[in-house]
Amino acid sequence: MNDVDRRDPRPQTISAAYGVATDAGFGAVAPPIYLSSTYEFAGYDQPRRYDYGRGGNPTRDLLGEALAKLEGGAGAVITASGMAALDLLVGRRRPGDLILAPHDCYGGTMRLLKARADRGHCSVRFVDQADEAAFGAALADVPALVLIETPSNPLMRVVDIEALAARARKAGAEVAVDNTFLSPAIQRPIALGADYVIHSTTKYLNGHSDVIGGAIVAADPAAVEELRQWANVVGSAGAPFDAWLTLRGLRSLFPRMERQQINAMAVANHLQRHPAVANVYYPGLASHPGHLIASRQQRGFGAMLSFELAGGVPAVRQFIDAVEFFTLAESLGGVESLVAHPATMTHADMGEEARAVAGISDSLLRLSVGLEAEQDLIAGLNKGLAACSA
Ligand code: PLP
Repeated sequence: MNDVDRRDPRPQTISAAYGVATDAGFGAVAPPIYLSSTYEFAGYDQPRRYDYGRGGNPTRDLLGEALAKLEGGAGAVITASGMAALDLLVGRRRPGDLILAPHDCYGGTMRLLKARADRGHCSVRFVDQADEAAFGAALADVPALVLIETPSNPLMRVVDIEALAARARKAGAEVAVDNTFLSPAIQRPIALGADYVIHSTTKYLNGHSDVIGGAIVAADPAAVEELRQWANVVGSAGAPFDAWLTLRGLRSLFPRMERQQINAMAVANHLQRHPAVANVYYPGLASHPGHLIASRQQRGFGAMLSFELAGGVPAVRQFIDAVEFFTLAESLGGVESLVAHPATMTHADMGEEARAVAGISDSLLRLSVGLEAEQDLIAGLNKGLAACSA
């Protein structure tokens, strides 16, 4: 390896090996975990790099550095959940600051934004960001922050980050992108003009469905510092053990994403051909309205998809009872495949009216496609589909 490669490793190398073999104490290859809540001062008025775990922790910082490098940001703050990461950005807004969010964002994001706005902490407006005129009209209200989620949850709508970020910046707004559905292995919003990237690390970054965590990466070092201080003020830091597990999960991010999206493509193609299925929403399909934008701004199409059953709610029940290898559960991004019914699960709190506006029907099912053998996944889906078309 030459010096340039050593100084500027590729993303796969950062993911697999950032912080490996850096332990000065014992030469441990796997970075050690620091659980201590407090740190000894070197002497009177002589704090070391770390003094108290709410404000900083070496294990958390190692994960933050790795994620910042992968996203191309100046630094990151690791939080206790994806919602805590979002709230770091939202909570430091002032009354009157307008946040522009997608009309079909993750249900928890909508709940948080509405709750903050209801209490007068900020104002919020939900808009179809793919509708150029509607987005332009909303920008005329001079938002402080534009929040983008692409692909959207659960309908996999894709918006053009570069175009939206350029328009938002011109209007004087900061831009944040929730990159949970793809991870930096597939999409890097900062290179497309975003100021912040938000993650529920619960999902692909950890990848093993055994941690709740979040991260916010900022492009500007001053913003990183401000977020770090704000995280200390409100106490939203993630636990060291969770950071350590997430760093361990991150080691296999790239091969996991590569394999899982191959499985997802096979599943999408299969569903598209099945008579029990009315619609399939996967940006990897040429028929998907966001396919061209996704091909340009993503390095793959990810492993999330959704579909509508032709038989409505009765078919949904029959499918869920009969499907195999897809566990009925919320969340996504793990090595195991999951199926969710957004209307009664992830997006239930949104309410019927907001779901109708976002186009989330009662016949919609969302799949998080895992690492299982493609043939087993197709066979498992066929069991469900056979039951509901009977
Ligand atoms: N953003 C997206 C796109 C999500 O899907 C989720 C959770 O499902 C979150 C944020 C919230 O993350 P967490 O559950 O880690 O708080």
